[in-house]
Amino acid sequence: MTRAFVFPGISSRVVFGAGTISTAGAEVARLGHSRALVLSTPHQEGEARKLSESLGPLSAGVFAGAAMHTPVEVTETATAHFRASGATCVVSLGGGSTTGLGKAIAVRTGADQVVIPTTYAGSEMTDILGETSGGEKTTRRDPAIRPETVIYDVALTTTLPVGLTVTSALNAIAHGMEALYAPDRNPVVVAMVKDALPAFRDSLPEIVKSPTDLVARGEALYAAWCCSTALAYVSMALHHKLAHVLGGSFNTPHAETHAILLPHTTDFNEEAVPGLLAPIAQVFGGGSAGKGLWDFAKALGAPMRLADLGLTEADMDRAAAIAMKNRYDNPRPFTEADIRALLQSAWEGRRPS
Ligand code: NAD
Repeated sequence: MTRAFVFPGISSRVVFGAGTISTAGAEVARLGHSRALVLSTPHQEGEARKLSESLGPLSAGVFAGAAMHTPVEVTETATAHFRASGATCVVSLGGGSTTGLGKAIAVRTGADQVVIPTTYAGSEMTDILGETSGGEKTTRRDPAIRPETVIYDVALTTTLPVGLTVTSALNAIAHGMEALYAPDRNPVVVAMVKDALPAFRDSLPEIVKSPTDLVARGEALYAAWCCSTALAYVSMALHHKLAHVLGGSFNTPHAETHAILLPHTTDFNEEAVPGLLAPIAQVFGGGSAGKGLWDFAKALGAPMRLADLGLTEADMDRAAAIAMKNRYDNPRPFTEADIRALLQSAWEGRRPS
């Protein structure tokens, strides 16, 4: 068959290196702004205050209340703060939770966003925003959500705890895995994912041994950017759907949930598209993509069982039923019984057979 694809371009400006946080002021000014509000979680408030000081008169202060799953109440308080501060731009310093808050402010106010990611979750390159209200998470895609500028500073990732480093990286690999079979994939994102897989394979064991190894951290952050870009320009399928169901309806932690599901969702879809997932099998070994990822996660000390997140088998019944509610494209068709069996494997943490 003749090759056919649409390449949508890559819209965000990316500055990558070690020590690049020093360019934040210049990047804010480059977008034409003279006042920016710095965002962070309470945990990273110290770094946010340092950044705010370094911005001098460009800084409109700090809002350090970002929380997981972007609760609308937090966004409303932060948006009021943003308006009162006279800022026209946000600088989001942190993981996906902080990036999510910046996106939520941006869609409400038209603010530009400079994002300085400190995990591998990958929200910074995407046009996706998930928000939680009344215990329900709703997700939308809109080009207006996509950050204008992303500053990757390898030095900031050396403090990421090893546990979160591993699960966040597996979260990134999950973006790459689904991009490999996405019907709207293009050669640029596929090439980026193929570059990311060996970079993660080689750097993560080094980081587990030596979390401040800047070279290994640099490779992992580069791989995270590749996978984040892949997530940004293709549609997602069963893996992201199940992670969304568990996170949204059972409040499981984001990165761990992705990490535990990944070998099982990969294994399930591998039966339908073994050729498209072959790059994963080639990089991680184990005889198949699903087994290779399971072995890799286990060797890194990742959590392996949904049961360890406090979920019960009855929760798995309910999750399978919820996952069947909205239909979406997936390379392998499935029934509720298929999903239930997949969730059972992930609940027990079994190696895919
Ligand atoms: P997170 O942002 O919640 O961070 C977890 C904790 O680690 C926080 O306390 C944070 O302050 C801390 N932390 C982050 N980086 C650190 C560092 N370098 N050193 C020390 N501590 C650090 O976790 P996450 O996994 O990055 O993000 C999860 C959230 O992102 C979820 O709400 C998820 O839905 C969202 N997300 C959205 C997209 C998207 O495209 N919209 C993509 C991925 C994730």
